[in-house]
Amino acid sequence: MTPNTNYANLKDSYLFYNIAQKTKKYLEEHPGTKLLRMGIGDVSLPLCDAVIKKLHEAVDDQSEKGSFHGYMPECGADFLREAIAEYYGKRGVKLSSDEVFVSSGASDELGDILDLFGRDKTVMIMEPAYPAYVDANVMAGNTIIHIPSGMENDFLPSPDDSLNPDVIYICSPNNPTGAVFGKEALKEWVDYANKKDAVIIFDAAYEAFIEDNSLPHSIFEIDGARACAIEICSLSKTAGFTGTRCGYTVIPSELTRGGMNLNSMWVRNRTTKTNGISYILQKGASAVFTDEGQKQIHRNIDVYKENARMLMRALDELGIYYTGGHNAPYIWMKCPDGCDSWTFFDKLLNEIQVVGTPGEGFGKCGDGYFRFSTFSSPEDTMEAASRLVKLLKK
Ligand code: PLP
Repeated sequence: MTPNTNYANLKDSYLFYNIAQKTKKYLEEHPGTKLLRMGIGDVSLPLCDAVIKKLHEAVDDQSEKGSFHGYMPECGADFLREAIAEYYGKRGVKLSSDEVFVSSGASDELGDILDLFGRDKTVMIMEPAYPAYVDANVMAGNTIIHIPSGMENDFLPSPDDSLNPDVIYICSPNNPTGAVFGKEALKEWVDYANKKDAVIIFDAAYEAFIEDNSLPHSIFEIDGARACAIEICSLSKTAGFTGTRCGYTVIPSELTRGGMNLNSMWVRNRTTKTNGISYILQKGASAVFTDEGQKQIHRNIDVYKENARMLMRALDELGIYYTGGHNAPYIWMKCPDGCDSWTFFDKLLNEIQVVGTPGEGFGKCGDGYFRFSTFSSPEDTMEAASRLVKLLKK
């Protein structure tokens, strides 16, 4: 028996391993030092009260015969699918609840969704990119077209008519660059996908961080997207669900390719490969979409946004180019003096004890850039920003 030999084509995921090794070594050599960790992609604030209250209620429901829930519907509980459809409705995006699929998080869906496309597909990935897009497609044996982006297009590349992708990944607001596609630029991608008969996988994991009202939170705000796009979203960063796990995927009912309906195919997939998400989690997640829940999660998001402002003020003072920060929890800065991203990582670790993420880990074109996350505590972020200014001010 030969296993899936595509796994042999995976590059070692050295990014976070290397960071961990370097910080471990530093701490061994400098015991007792407090590192300011600005690299983490995990949240630091707990779940909001509205969610906690619903989780408790749901646990109690499971203790009584009358309110106990066994297997949940594979595609999600009606109460949560409806709450999510209503959330979109408030932004003018009309969805029917059976176009919403509840998931256990965006990572799971980003890998699983490839089942819809079958083998030997050509996928387009804009880089720098969230590493899971590349790895999931290498495992599936797909051909990857890497689309580099940079300062020249503010990390928002345009479609290239000479290429013929089957699947196109768009992450907006972007991890790692924090760049966000405007409506016109996104419309170009939607028209391109429709023309090429491709499907866009739109990763909206950071939509809740958008503060500029003119920017789209969902690809379904763009005309024509219902004919070509799948949207994958997560409550991880929106509502602090990284360890609790819940997300959702939107597949429009009219999305078809090769005469087959992708929404019906996903129903078939979910009913075969899952037995649904826990009742308790779905009940907790439903609180996120209430008015009170929205107020509370935005109080937490505002803390991260204030962190972003501290880092942006520091970079502005230093006159350093960056993207992100305003509409995303990441800041993507150009390393000063033409420094490569790992040298800059070492410099910050050794000289000011700040840990960030080298841009090279998100694709070749990320070299020379550095990612700060804004999920740390305000105290650590303020201290990191001030040390950065002292270190780099000429
Ligand atoms: N998509 C992007 C762009 C992310 O940055 C992340 C997590 O960092 C995910 C998806 C995964 O989210 P989840 O926690 O829902 O699996």
